[in-house]
Amino acid sequence: MMASPTMEAAAGVSFTLTAEQLMLQKMARDFTAKEIIPVAAEFDEHATFPEDIFHKARELGLVNMNIPAEFGGVGASVLEECIVAEELGYGCTGISTSVSTNSLGSLPIILGGNDQQKAHWLGDRLMDRGEFVSYCVTEAGAGSNVVGMQTRAERKGGSYIINGSKIFITNASHAHFFTVFAKTNPDAGHKGMTAFIIDRDAPGVSVGKKFDKLGQRASDTAEIVFENVEVPVENRIGEEGQGFYLAMKVFDYSRPGVAAAAVGLQRRALEECVKYAKEREAFGVPIFQHQAIGHKIADMAINYEASRLLTWQAAALVGTPAYNPKLPAYAKAFAADMATKAAVDAVQVFGGYGFMKEYPVEKLLRDVKIFQIYEGTSEIQRNVIVRELFK
Ligand SMILES: Cc1cc2nc3c(=O)[nH]c(=O)nc-3n(C[C@H](O)[C@H](O)[C@H](O)COP(=O)(O)OP(=O)(O)OC[C@H]3O[C@@H](n4cnc5c(N)ncnc54)[C@H](O)[C@@H]3O)c2cc1C
Repeated sequence: MMASPTMEAAAGVSFTLTAEQLMLQKMARDFTAKEIIPVAAEFDEHATFPEDIFHKARELGLVNMNIPAEFGGVGASVLEECIVAEELGYGCTGISTSVSTNSLGSLPIILGGNDQQKAHWLGDRLMDRGEFVSYCVTEAGAGSNVVGMQTRAERKGGSYIINGSKIFITNASHAHFFTVFAKTNPDAGHKGMTAFIIDRDAPGVSVGKKFDKLGQRASDTAEIVFENVEVPVENRIGEEGQGFYLAMKVFDYSRPGVAAAAVGLQRRALEECVKYAKEREAFGVPIFQHQAIGHKIADMAINYEASRLLTWQAAALVGTPAYNPKLPAYAKAFAADMATKAAVDAVQVFGGYGFMKEYPVEKLLRDVKIFQIYEGTSEIQRNVIVRELFK
């Protein structure tokens, strides 16, 4: 029998959420129904950034969930973050992306920062002041190939001078600070990367154009330019040369949450289809009674459940001895692909109405595509799986 990294954990498998997790799920579901669904179409149309929704979610503890208790957060588990991401993603994945980006931006500090950095950036800035943070890896010439980045950090006395630019950065127009990956030694390949915390107000930082997007239009995506930005050495996260390892570790913790939002989108597609296929009649019967339509919706339900199980597995095992990088790769690739299929099929179930903005599935189809691209494309997830299988 092929050894599986999850065999050990399987003995303790449970499909039951705790009472606290069920309360969290209900709170996020109610929040989505009240605050997100009613405005989602309008925010999408006008590409409105959901700043008020972010602050309301923050007051309820649905933002910055991963910040440890000693720095003012609730120290939620990755599984708990996934429970919330599914609910918010059900309402609008554009809004949920904006609301949850602080969790990604703060991860380099949570996983690699020292106590002073945690107290200031996580405690004072994110928790107390309610600020935004963006995670900055991607560059115009280097997305999947992280090691190809050109942003340079040169040590000068007690500071680093940062030059370069980052592209497609979520929440960049609103962020108060950034976690930024740069090359401290351009000749050292992946061992030449280092992570820094850069304040938005530092001279030389400018946020460039905000991109106009196909979907997830309520999320903000912009470019950032660093021109001779002086960053004190205290803002370096970990040691020089540790940046690549830190970036990869961040993905271990962040990818289940992205998969969970795609799971939420699948559940939305499924529920909209069940409702519509009962009401809509063709040839004298509700359309779900035409097997071609009923089976499409059955597949949606199977894929939703399977995506969720892979997501919860990855979330539950991260940080444990049973963890393997294949797990979030399975979850993210599968949930993204199945969400894409669900959105395409949902438009088909709705027929011509599915193509119209009056019905919610048109937006699902535009919103879904990015799940196969950001936080590692579906091809890169499969590369991770191949690497682990053939090690
Ligand atoms: C809306 C949005 C929000 C984003 N938010 C952030 C953010 O907050 N922070 C951040 O740092 N980045 C962010 N990104 C960037 C995102 O992570 C990258 O776009 C993504 O990693 C792909 O990189 P790329 O666009 O350069 O594509 P490329 O790397 O140029 O890839 C192009 C195509 O080639 C394929 N490909 C590349 N290399 C391989 C390979 N080795 N094997 C097989 N196929 C390969 C890719 O899968 C893809 O299909 C965001 C992007 C978008 C669109």
